[in-house]
Amino acid sequence: MKRIGRLVATMLMGVLPAGGQAQEGILPPGETSGTRSGADGAPSWKGDPEKRKALIESLRALRREPEKVEFHSAMCYKIARPPESVSYTCKVCGTVTEHPWAGVGQIVEGLPYLERSLSELPVRITFDASSLCSTCGNGRPPGIEMTTECGECGKAFRWNVSTREEEDRLRLLFLRHPITSFDAGPGKWKDGPDPDRVKEIAEYISSHMFCETCCPILGLKEAGR
Ligand SMILES: [Zn+2]
Ligand SMILES: [Zn+2]
Repeated sequence: MKRIGRLVATMLMGVLPAGGQAQEGILPPGETSGTRSGADGAPSWKGDPEKRKALIESLRALRREPEKVEFHSAMCYKIARPPESVSYTCKVCGTVTEHPWAGVGQIVEGLPYLERSLSELPVRITFDASSLCSTCGNGRPPGIEMTTECGECGKAFRWNVSTREEEDRLRLLFLRHPITSFDAGPGKWKDGPDPDRVKEIAEYISSHMFCETCCPILGLKEAGR
């Protein structure tokens, strides 16, 4: 996973103007926290500033006018018959571990999508899937450990994805901004406006992209909540 993180960082470094990071007195990610992942000589990372601005604006708008974004049912494209189990090949030691679909199988299946999607976010989020390996996992419950480097101050914080519901929610982070409508998901939510649901979604995205301190500062959350 580190290798990929570095690869992505290298790719981005090639795209971003040199010296584009650490402007305006904001501490570069990594200097505010000792828990920075990928600190093994990887260059400091800064997402697309335009995308980041659009993200913050969009999240503010969702909070301000949650009734403006409606839910619409889309076509269902669920796997007709999911496999019994999915095998995970560890990128570190090569061990192949079988995971039941009903357990973390869907998470394992979604890993390539996750990697690709995370690399396109304006906020740096990395993940560690080592607990999915029967050898490297050392008996830890299988899942993925996510590390967000706050999109504002760079402070790193961790969170876990270990259930199918959490994996579904995770996809909210990859919605295109500004958001004009939500896919209701067949039979899941009702069509039409649902301000509370929109606020909840906005809060989920905000709190996984920005730290607790920065959310209220950015106007993405009420202070003291
Ligand atoms: Zn392993
Ligand atoms: Zn922050």
